[in-house]
Parts: sequence; C-alpha cells; structure tokens
Amino acid sequence: MYNHKSKTSDATSMKPLDPEEFRRQGHLVIDFLADYYKNVDKYPVRSQVEPGYLKERLPGSAPNEPEPIEQILHDVQNDIVPGLTHWQSPNYFAYFPSSGSIAGFLGEMLSTGFNVVGFNWMSSPAATELESIVMDWLGKMLQLPSEFLFSGGGGGVLQGTTCEAILCTMVAARDRVLKKIGRVNINKLVVYGSDQTHSALQKAAQIAGINPTNFRAVATSKSNAFGLTAEAFRAQVESDVESGLVPLFLCATIGTTSSTAVDPLGPLCSVAKEFNIWVHVDAAYAGSACICPEYRHFLDGVENADSFSFNAHKWFLTTLDCCCLWVKDPSALVKALSTYPEYLRNKASDEKSVIDYKDWQITLSRRFRSLKLWLVIRSYGVANLRKFLRSHIKMAKNFEGLIGMDKRFEVVVPRNFATVCFRISPIEISGNHQIVSKEEAANNINAKLLETINESGKIYMTHAVIGGVYVMRFAVGATLTENRHVILAWKVVQEHANALLNSS
Ligand SMILES: *Cc1c(COP(=O)(O)O)cnc(C)c1O
Repeated sequence: MYNHKSKTSDATSMKPLDPEEFRRQGHLVIDFLADYYKNVDKYPVRSQVEPGYLKERLPGSAPNEPEPIEQILHDVQNDIVPGLTHWQSPNYFAYFPSSGSIAGFLGEMLSTGFNVVGFNWMSSPAATELESIVMDWLGKMLQLPSEFLFSGGGGGVLQGTTCEAILCTMVAARDRVLKKIGRVNINKLVVYGSDQTHSALQKAAQIAGINPTNFRAVATSKSNAFGLTAEAFRAQVESDVESGLVPLFLCATIGTTSSTAVDPLGPLCSVAKEFNIWVHVDAAYAGSACICPEYRHFLDGVENADSFSFNAHKWFLTTLDCCCLWVKDPSALVKALSTYPEYLRNKASDEKSVIDYKDWQITLSRRFRSLKLWLVIRSYGVANLRKFLRSHIKMAKNFEGLIGMDKRFEVVVPRNFATVCFRISPIEISGNHQIVSKEEAANNINAKLLETINESGKIYMTHAVIGGVYVMRFAVGATLTENRHVILAWKVVQEHANALLNSS
C-alpha cells in the first residue's frame, strides 16, 4: 500500500552551518585525508578504472532523505578513490606536479570557510588588500622589476589559471591597439607563440576574437633547444607587417610544457618593442624555481615584457587554483575588463581609492585565494620554499645521472628544472625495420614502454613529442617524493625496458 505518511525531513532540523556539527564532521574529513596521505603510495598511481565505471556504482537519481557523513566518506573511499589518479603520490611524475601542502590546504579551508565573494574592495577589504600585499611579496621574491609591483605603478592579481591570465592580458593588448587603429580592424591583429607554446594561447586567441588565420606558432628546432629565436620571431613579424597585418601579442614561455624549454626574453622583447607588441611571459611551471637566485637568470629580460604569470598551484605548495599574474599597466586590463553597474556602486570605488579586482579578470565573483598563498609563504618561509624546489631539482638531476649509466637510454633535451625528457635510444632498436624508419620504431617502442609502466600502477609518467621524437617526461615535484622514490622509479623503467627489449 502506498504510504502517504512517508517521512519527510524536517527542514528546520537540517542546520547546514551548525558550529558543533561542523566541528564533528570537519574532524572526520581531516582524519580521512590524513589517512589518505598516509596510504597514498599504496594505490596504483594512474587510475585503473574504465570509462563509465562510476555509473555502475552510484544510484541513478539523488537521495531524497539525508545521508550521514560516515556513509558518504565510506563511499568516497570505495567508489571515488579508485577513480582518482593520485597526484599527491610520491610516485607521481606525470604532466607537471600539483604540489599539495598543509599550509595550502589550510589556507584553502579558511578561504572556503569564510566564503566571501571579494569582487570589489568593499565586498571584503581584507581579500583585496591581502592579495595586493602578497603579490608584491611574491614579486619581490622573484626579483620582478619594480614596474610590475604596486609599489612601482604596476600590480599583481590572482587568477584561476594561466589560460585566464593569457586571455585577460590579450584582451588588454587588443583593446589598446584597436583604440588606435579602429575596431573594424580586429581581423588584422596577429598573435605569436612558438610551436612549443601551451595551447592556452590558442584558446585565448579564439576567445578574444583573433582571426584564426592570424595565429602564429613559430617553428623551433633542436639546435636552439626548442626555444623561440628572436630571428625566427622577427622574420614572421616582418612578413606579417608586409602583408598589412598588425602584430599584437607574443606569449614567451619560460619552461615549456613539453620539454621545459626557455624562450630568450631579452632578444624577443627587443623585437617586440620595435613593433609595439605586448609580451606576456608564461612561466606557469618554472616560475617557482626562479625564487632561487641561481635560477633567476631564466627570467632575465622580463624587465622589457608587459606581463608575467606563474602557477602557484603547480610547484609551489599551493592547492589548485592559483595563477599569479603581474602587469606593468593595470589600467590596460581595467579598460578592457571593467564594468560598473549601479548595484556595485560604493564610495571607495567612486573615489578610485581602492583596487576592484573584478576589473582585472574575466569573472565578477572571485575567491579569496591570497589566503592560501599567504599561509604557504608564512608557514614555510622563503628559505624553505627554496629548499623544497632545490630538492626536486636535485632529484631530477639524480634521475638524469641514472639514465646516463644505462647506455640503452638517452636524455633527449637538456634538463633546465626538475623535469627530465628521456627515451630508449634508436640505436637500441634491433630487428629489421624496413617498413618504418629507426626513429619511428623508437617512437613506437617508447610509447609501448610508457604504457606498460603506467599500466603497472607503480609510477606514473606522461609523454611529449618534441621535434618528432616521442619522449617520456619524468617530472619531479610531488610534495611527498623523496630520492628513494626516484631510485625506485628508475628500477621500474629498467625492468619494463628489459622485458620489452628482450621480447622484441
Ligand atoms: C600548465 C601550463 C599552462 C596551463 O596552465 P593552466 O593554469 O592549467 O591554465 C600554461 N602554460 C604552461 C607553460 C604550462 O606548463
């Protein structure tokens, strides 16, 4: 019989922000995560589930009645954890790191706990003011020229990701130029990067309304370690100008995603200056290392760029998301991105005595991200942050040394930071390869090797194709990684190579 007296939960008993329930459930979640970190090396690093795995485990519709946190955490362990790739595992060497930390986590927690929406100064003065202060701190740690700091007329802002940072600077550059040449000429604007530049640049160009035929990925080569040369850049710019186009924006990279190549900022900026091109420096991964004096030289020339960004959420102990962007001319950003509806009007903004970060980014609402950066910098101090970065670079160097002792392998491009690109050398490929060239055979066997390694779940690496060469990327940077994990990782690579080479 249909039960009309089905129990409906009493809305007044729900209390979603009850302080004592928060304390109790919060502690359960912290305990859960502490155990996760303790055991994270026991899981296969790369998730082994098949597409659609979760649909088979979870109900097709939402529960009508409340469920206890204990039950939910139980299901997180049983249903969600198997579908995780464990970026915090000490055996994680894929892509670039997403280095977690207690300080980053707790900063995120505070920010989420307050849950303020700091679009303008008035909406939470501390959110705006802390962000400006921390960005100047960080700018000084990176020895950015004073023009990038608030104290020198520029300024920094926390974006979600590099993609957003590039898009915002590109529209600032776009509107500055279109103001001069007229908006009807948008189809003439040209955007430049190299063939190694992150796809974020192309995405930004697409969103910013750049004519798709005016997107230039200038070729790089092994002879220049896959950096963009000023000569190649100049040749492309001159040819575009000759065709009546208007060069707009260059994205130069310090530490490319495929191989951590470095574009020479000094020479590129001189060419850009000549043609009035906005230069954005994307140091998403490698920017972190530049807080160490011995790696700061990679940023030489940044004084002539217009904007600079790096991801604190990659290799800087700060949880996703946190991209640090500095610009020399904040008014260019504001002109392109500001709006001022009546419902946001307030005295401080009217008097222009404050920063309203909503005008420095795409979205209106924004998170209190500076809290986590502030906690990271204060909790570890500059000295320990440098030590942390150096330890990873040292481990990568050790890994490189191990590769050097096995003549079957080779390091494919010079290592600049804590990422090593290597492969089984084509010389090692035996057999009669008349159908494919030796290089192609090497690409195939390295791809096969990487897949069998990742399938094992013992470590996780990803690949890149650089100048037609398939390489395995070994990116050290997970917070829990120690040298013993690196040594073990090399053993795993060797064992799988033995099996593969002996069978082929
Ligand atoms: C990771 C990376 C990006 C993309 O960063 P998001 O924050 O995910 O947008 C861009 N450029 C480089 C060089 C990167 O390594």
